Amino acid sequence: MTEGTPMTDEELHELADKQAALGEVRGAPAPDPVNAPMIRHWLAAMGDANPAYLDKGVAPPAMAQVWTMQGLSGQGKDRSPVDDMMTALNANGYTGVVATNCEQAYHRYARLGERLTPATRFSDLAGPKRTALGVGYFATWNVTWYGDDDQPVAEMLFRVLKFRPPRKTEQKAEPYPLRPAVNQDTAFFWEGVRNGELRVQTCADCGLLRHPPGPLCPHCRSTNLSYTVASGEGTLYSYVVHHHPPVPGRETPFVVGVVELPEGVRIVGNVVDCPPEEVDIGMSLRVTYRPMDDQLILPMWAPREP
Ligand code: ZN
Repeated sequence: MTEGTPMTDEELHELADKQAALGEVRGAPAPDPVNAPMIRHWLAAMGDANPAYLDKGVAPPAMAQVWTMQGLSGQGKDRSPVDDMMTALNANGYTGVVATNCEQAYHRYARLGERLTPATRFSDLAGPKRTALGVGYFATWNVTWYGDDDQPVAEMLFRVLKFRPPRKTEQKAEPYPLRPAVNQDTAFFWEGVRNGELRVQTCADCGLLRHPPGPLCPHCRSTNLSYTVASGEGTLYSYVVHHHPPVPGRETPFVVGVVELPEGVRIVGNVVDCPPEEVDIGMSLRVTYRPMDDQLILPMWAPREP
């Protein structure tokens, strides 16, 4: 939640001093008394099989905070000296939060039927400090839980780092992890893909089409190269459905097909826009150009509309 106006570092410390000067501020009593069902659930969740708590009618001391938690709705929560400080930090862009310290001290057991009352004291604001998460402030407060006899049952020191998360634009976009090897022989192919052309290498001497590209014509051994632009149509010659292992940047399963072009060569590519179970050998396909990140486009194959 961000509300209020941004403050200077000095004003934040002034507010912290003001909140600390309030001293211990009592909150509303717990909505429910210390009770057996809650203790039973807590012991089960913690894997604590000690029967002593319910036998003696007392709560495990580490449950102190449980009784006065505000719950999901947050209804009926009264403002503590910490809230204004948190609001001000949020308004200054320190919206990230991570708890760094929690120290508890127990004075006595809370008894069944007892209604605890929390009291909060804001104790310290330190910062701004540069941390691995970003620049932020360490805010520390203390909570004491009082029993029906108005005596402290438990105390807690709590410290959080309120930090300014890095802006989205400062985070570098991850490129698609699998990049084709582009070399002297294949550069023309990838240049074509960027231009929406499916280029097939040809021999400049005998005219033979070949794919994948290479430096030498297997028919006449010429090194004179050229290319032709394919129609972009093809039929599925063979395929596999890849389930495992995981491939970085891809969701499994995906289909890898060998596509036969009417020009006379075969080309490997993903079959997309079609559930794997509907992929069928002989199906008519059309090339489609899919951006994988802001630099790489891959040619893939989608079912051709009838
Ligand atoms: Zn040739």
